[in-house]
Amino acid sequence: MKKVIVFIVLSCVVVACSTVLFTGRKQLLLVPDSEVLALSSANYREFIGSTPASQDKANTALVKKVGAKISKAVENYLLANGREKEISQYSWEFSLVKGNVVNAFCMPGGKVVFYEGILPVTQNETGIAVVMGHEVAHAVAKHSSERLSHHMMVQYGAALADILSSKQSAPVRTGIKTLYGIGSQVGVILPFSRTHEYEADQLGLIFMAMAGYDPAAAVGFWERMAAMGGDKGLELLSTHPSDANRIAKIKSLLPEAQKYYSKK
Ligand SMILES: [Zn+2]
Repeated sequence: MKKVIVFIVLSCVVVACSTVLFTGRKQLLLVPDSEVLALSSANYREFIGSTPASQDKANTALVKKVGAKISKAVENYLLANGREKEISQYSWEFSLVKGNVVNAFCMPGGKVVFYEGILPVTQNETGIAVVMGHEVAHAVAKHSSERLSHHMMVQYGAALADILSSKQSAPVRTGIKTLYGIGSQVGVILPFSRTHEYEADQLGLIFMAMAGYDPAAAVGFWERMAAMGGDKGLELLSTHPSDANRIAKIKSLLPEAQKYYSKK
């Protein structure tokens, strides 16, 4: 245990302790962004290559439109706040794929996938923006990189320092594959922690508001999700069964998010 603690402290010095936008939470990121992004892009290609795209042209266009608006709003915010260097870390792509599963997910760097099954819950463009804001927030807050870092700590423990210093990327590759379960069922994707989910909700409300969508719509969306009950393996339902807490938290965060909406 002592070794691990020493390692965390060392890592913060050697690698990076980053700070999440808006929430100010400190996070440990052991793997360089460039490596995570390269692997994420490769995995995304693999996923898109083996999953049928939706034939619903109108909704495919809508998912892409909302994604473009929200990612643009985030980039404008980064630009206006001296964080323009971060913009190069994104290579946004927004897809709608076939499947009745009520889910969406985001890979590092901004590769967002919606399943057709979520459209009856989003209902309209603003509903899509609720989910898009949440998924884009996972990317901006680098939740996958953080999860990967934790995964590696658990998996490799004290040997991690050697792995990182020798720049062997195999454990990173294995870690990312495990997190996303590429090539397997979507249910294999590991749910984010509650901390990450609440953070994605908070940032998501702000991002959708910045893009011109009323964040108040998030309450209705999550009520509809809650009414569906849930499979804990799904990214969007990963905080189930605390739906009531989630909705209450969203309501409490709305005044902050509305400030960005009312500027429009
Ligand atoms: Zn999430």
